[in-house]
This record gives sequence, C-alpha cells and structure tokens, in this order.
Amino acid sequence: TTTGPNADGEGSGLRTPIVAVLGHVDHGKTSLLDKIRGSAVIEGEAGAITQHIGATAVPLDVISELAGSLIDPSDFDLPGLLFIDTPGHHSFSTLRARGGALADIAVLVVDVNDGFQPQTLEALDILKRTQTPFVVAANKIDTTPGWNPQEDAPTLRTIDAQSDRAENTLNQRLYEIIGELSENGFSADMYWRVQDFRGNIGVVPVSALTGEGVPDLLTVLMGLSQRYMKEDMEVNLSGPGAGTVLEVKEERGFGTTLDVVLYDGVVRTDDTIVVGGKNEPIVTEVRALLQPRPLAEIRTEKRFEQVEEVTAAAGVKIAAPDLDDAIAGAPVRVARGRPVEEVVAAVEAELAEIEVDTAENG
Ligand code: GDP
Repeated sequence: TTTGPNADGEGSGLRTPIVAVLGHVDHGKTSLLDKIRGSAVIEGEAGAITQHIGATAVPLDVISELAGSLIDPSDFDLPGLLFIDTPGHHSFSTLRARGGALADIAVLVVDVNDGFQPQTLEALDILKRTQTPFVVAANKIDTTPGWNPQEDAPTLRTIDAQSDRAENTLNQRLYEIIGELSENGFSADMYWRVQDFRGNIGVVPVSALTGEGVPDLLTVLMGLSQRYMKEDMEVNLSGPGAGTVLEVKEERGFGTTLDVVLYDGVVRTDDTIVVGGKNEPIVTEVRALLQPRPLAEIRTEKRFEQVEEVTAAAGVKIAAPDLDDAIAGAPVRVARGRPVEEVVAAVEAELAEIEVDTAENG
C-alpha cells in the first residue's frame, strides 16, 4: 500500500517531461517536430532518438549534441524530452492527467509573418486554463526579406550573420508577437532576456525549415523542465502504470487498440488495466504492447514490434480485448498491487472530472 509515487523508494526515478506543440494551422507545428526528429537522427548516434506511438523521445545526449555550447549536460538529470505528435489543440484540451494537463510543458508555434490567429488565441486560453508552462517558437524567421540562412545554427549566431535591415525587420515582427502576448495577459521577452520563466514567457526565434534556433528551443525546454519541473518528474518507475488515451484505433491483426501516453509507472504484457469507456470503465488485460518498428526495418510487412513492458514517459499502442467503447482523452490505469474496484473508482472519478471540464468549456 503506497501512499505516494515514491512511498517505498523502490524504482523511484526521474521521468521524461512530456511536451506538446500547439499553434494555428500552417504555422509550422508538424515541420518543427519533423525538424527536431530529422536533426536528431543526423546528429545523434543511430537509434538515440526513438519514435514512439504518438510521440518522439529526444534523449538528453542528443539535445546536448544539437545545442552544442548552449548546454552543459552535467547540469541536467532529467532524461530528455518526450514530444507528443501534435494531436491538434481540440484534443489537447481534453488530454488530462489526474486533473492537470497531460503535457508538462508546451511550445506555442507562431508564424512571424502571420502573428496571432484564432487558433493561437484558443491555444493560449487552454494553456492558461491548464496552467501549462510554455515557450513561444516564433517560426519561419527564414522568410524575413534578405535573410541569410545558417542551417541549424543557434539564434544569436544566425542573427549575427544577418544584415541590419533583415535583423530590424525580424525584430519588428518579434516585438509584435511579444506585444500580442502582453495584450493577452502574458509578460514576455526574447528568451535570452528572461530571468524567471515562471512569470515570463520566453520567445524563441526559429525556422523549422532551416533548423535555425532549434538548438535554442531544445535548450530552453530542457532548462525550464529541469529548473521548475524536476519534482513533478519524480515517479515510481516500477509502479503501476498510468496514462492517457490519445486515440482509439482499429489495427489489422489486433482489433481495437489504444494509443496511450504513459506518464507514470510501468505497463507490462498481461497486466490488468482499467480504461475510461463510453458507459463505464473497461477492465481488460493487456494482450500486446506495440511500438513502431525502427526505420531501418520499415520494409517488413509488420509496422509494429511487440515489447514486454513500457516505462513512463512513453507513447505506446496497447492491444487488449473489449476496447471498442474506450474514449480518447480517458485515463488508463494498471491495476497491479491494488484491488481492481479501487482502480475502477479512481478512473470513474477522473472521467467525471473531464466531463465537468469539457461541459464548462464547451
Ligand atoms: P502545421 O499545420 O502547424 O503543422 O504547419 P506545417 O508544419 O504543415 O507547415 C505549414 C507550411 O509552412 C508548410 O508548407 C511548411 O513547409 C511551411 N513551413 C513550416 N515551417 C516553416 C519555416 O520555418 N520556414 C518556411 N519558409 N516555411 C515553413
């Protein structure tokens, strides 16, 4: 009978912070994630970056390689960052974990040419409501007239390489974004001028196309997590798993499956799990845990490989019987070491909270 995640000290450790990328359509969410994935594959050791179901894990050593002199890896003990593959902000608002937001931290992507748009404002509202710390990625800086692109360079180095005219144009656009944040109640500045990231939003100029500023973005996310979120990342890594359903999907050979982001503990094949369902919580047994096959093996017929267990934080596909009524956004809990009824009650309580929340907010 544990009273907290580390009550018995066993298996306690630091999990990876979960990062969500939000923003208006076409402002570059997908491109930014692709860029991070792509650079990490090129720079890092083979296999250092891992593609999960619905998420991408970027370990600290890859971040530190990409960030170069911006980061001293010995300042960090969090294992890296887990980016959720953009679920779109509508589903983001329902992605909860124990009453809070599933994402520990967020990146709000804003196109420097386009500024704040309706979905930017909606995303801001969600971030405010869920009290999710975030940074703003001011994207597409390469579209500044006269821009002289510096592939994958840190922001200040690329700004140094620009003409005064290009730099001034960019600054003007960045200050418009800072102004818009301020109009919406957020004190913000260029990230390198922010001392306290709890009270101020850092703006990171980036290009998802050229990779400029991506080292800075990763550094700021890592630094923010380490500084302000470390305590929340202390979990019992061998305790019963807890996660949130991203998607309910039919998968050939497996029937209905759940794409889940696991934020606590471990889930194993044959575990009994409790999942939020349309009418009542579903109690079932894990038949298979699936991860995407590494890219090198993509030519094989099978898209997934089976693993015996998955530890937080991670994205994973769970195959189990009776999942037809499962709902996206619902909690998933492993019922290990606790009576199933208790876990069912916990899932019911969490579901009720989500329903109240979505009812309140339309
Ligand atoms: P999403 O809807 O937010 O996921 O946006 P996408 O990532 O699909 O990007 C929308 C369009 O903007 C695509 O045509 C991208 O190639 C382009 N784009 C994204 N980021 C950049 C950037 O940094 N620079 C330039 N020039 N184009 C970009």
